[in-house]
Amino acid sequence: MSEKSTSNSLDLVVTAVATQLMAVNAATSVNVARKVLADLVAHFDVDASFLRHNDHNIRATKLVADWPLRPNVPDPDPLAVVYFDEADPVFALAEHLKEPAVFRPEPATEDYQRRIQENRHIPPTSMACVPLLSGDVTTGVLGFVKWGDRDWRAEELNALKAIASLFAQLQARVEAEDQLRYLAEHDDLTGLHNRRALLAHLDERLAPGMPGPVSALFFDLDRLKAINDYLGHTAGDWFIRVLAERLREGTDGRSLIARLGGDEFVVVPAAPMESDTAEALAYRLQSILRERVAIDGEMLTRTVSIGVALGFPGRDTTSDLLRRADQAVLTAKSSGGNKIAVFSDEMSLDIEFRNDIELHLQSVIENGALLLHYLPEVDMRTGEILAAEALVRWQHPTRGLLSPDAFIGVAESINLAGELGRWVMRSACAEFARWRAQGVGHDAVLRINVSPVQLVTDGFVESVADIIEEFGLDGGSVCLEITESVVVQDIETTRITLAGLRNVGVRVAIDDFGTGYSVLSHLKSLPVDTLKIDKSFVRELGFNAGDLAIVRAVIALAEAFDLQLVAEGVETETAALTLLRHGCHRAQGFLLSRPVPGGEMAALLAQGRIPLHFSATPHV
Ligand code: C2E
Ligand code: CA
Ligand code: CA
Repeated sequence: MSEKSTSNSLDLVVTAVATQLMAVNAATSVNVARKVLADLVAHFDVDASFLRHNDHNIRATKLVADWPLRPNVPDPDPLAVVYFDEADPVFALAEHLKEPAVFRPEPATEDYQRRIQENRHIPPTSMACVPLLSGDVTTGVLGFVKWGDRDWRAEELNALKAIASLFAQLQARVEAEDQLRYLAEHDDLTGLHNRRALLAHLDERLAPGMPGPVSALFFDLDRLKAINDYLGHTAGDWFIRVLAERLREGTDGRSLIARLGGDEFVVVPAAPMESDTAEALAYRLQSILRERVAIDGEMLTRTVSIGVALGFPGRDTTSDLLRRADQAVLTAKSSGGNKIAVFSDEMSLDIEFRNDIELHLQSVIENGALLLHYLPEVDMRTGEILAAEALVRWQHPTRGLLSPDAFIGVAESINLAGELGRWVMRSACAEFARWRAQGVGHDAVLRINVSPVQLVTDGFVESVADIIEEFGLDGGSVCLEITESVVVQDIETTRITLAGLRNVGVRVAIDDFGTGYSVLSHLKSLPVDTLKIDKSFVRELGFNAGDLAIVRAVIALAEAFDLQLVAEGVETETAALTLLRHGCHRAQGFLLSRPVPGGEMAALLAQGRIPLHFSATPHV
């Protein structure tokens, strides 16, 4: 062959490789690489060739493709990943190789020869190694092996350099594609899959003919919000990462774990799973997640509610499955949190119940089936009754006495919250005025819950003013309780409404403090008198150090802003004493009193105090 025609044929080889590699993507790259290697083996008349990529993070070279296929490759393949530190000089060279290197049989490459001989069962060889380069970084190597001796001409090595550069470009492109796909399917904070990836996965798993049932575990961290609000977002993020890591460790590597944003996670086990097994898995993961996490020297535990649901391929859709899991987790949360609930048909009955309530609620307000109970608020140092909170109940003809959680949400969803709220306000003020007329409760405050919907209704302030006036109460003895979330959702409207209420003279408390979207940043500028720290932080006080950290932060906050602080949900003596020790003495809760009917509340007010069954002197 003339020199001219050789270089022509080398050009053709390079062009052919370029064409083959052009259309490659991540999924096809290995097969196409193998095919290209096979062509090069034939063209250069060598016996074997390989493509390896460098992983500089772990300082190793990884086999991508080789040709010919080796028979009886051991598992694990000793050639798959070779660490540079442990590698013989020829492999080690691939870490930073910048120019082609040619090896011919000689003593210096003995180790390498032996390794190849052991693994390939072939005699001493000669070899050309050509680096894949990306800028100054050696990203991999192409190798061409000839049994026995072979010389490499400069033009040949130049052609191999051109081919290596094509492979390097492909490698960069595939990596970029991988990276983009990764970003599109994963959550930044935790590296878990995201919602999009979850939906795609479930669509696939629920396709007709796939094995089922497919189970989904929906996780909702109870009160994670509070960590963000009181210990800062860095702490919150760290906490979420720790939990993500625990979920990873607690599941087999094949389960899909997704974070849907915020504090919601979904686990989809890879294997078909009946509900017993899925529930058992949920219990196991719950106990792993409940273990303490150290943040800034505080040991935090956060409880988690889990909803479990099954989907049947070919019958249920992804949204069916997620809706059931979501319904189950809501059930778990509404029964106090830190629970596991498996979706059942009864949960569909809940929906019936809702419909029934929806149907009757309108007439209930008119027909006098609503009544009020009152929850005393007490100074835990003395037992003195400081306030009475009106809590609405519904005497349902067949379902018994319903608690507000069962029907307030429904009322809001069918625009009855305003009417219900007005009924509560009038009835509570009327009853309170009667007690005062009987000479009791002159130093006590009447607390009334206001639904978020009411607060943003036109004419709300006027209706409050009218009712206060109608019953001759002074505004200072009535306090409206609003929840944190509503305040922030529409901060401007809220600001105007609260200013209006301030003019009327009524007081305002923020209820369930710590559970909603934080009003912290607005506290200073809002006309608010009282914070009621949510019962979920109080209930386990004395046992849960994380709760104590949050309670202490809220106590400090109330002091800083000169606000009254009331602890809700005091159920144990330990909680009461812990609160007292940290300077919070206003409280309500089952330890002090259950909600009582109006007559009993009047009697308590007449006594002026509730006998305390624990020692109010803090331990020294
Ligand atoms: P809330 O405002 O946080 O009221 C306190 C609730 O906690 C009451 O439940 C009370 O019975 C309960 N509770 C008091 N002490 C303890 C305790 O030591 N442990 C536990 N586990 N619970 C305790 P209830 O009466 O079922 O009311 C639930 C919620 O319904 C109230 O929470 C309030 O948000 C809402 N609500 C009640 N009455 C009205 C109303 O007239 N209007 C509106 N919009 N909402 C109301
Ligand atoms: Ca309340
Ligand atoms: Ca509350």
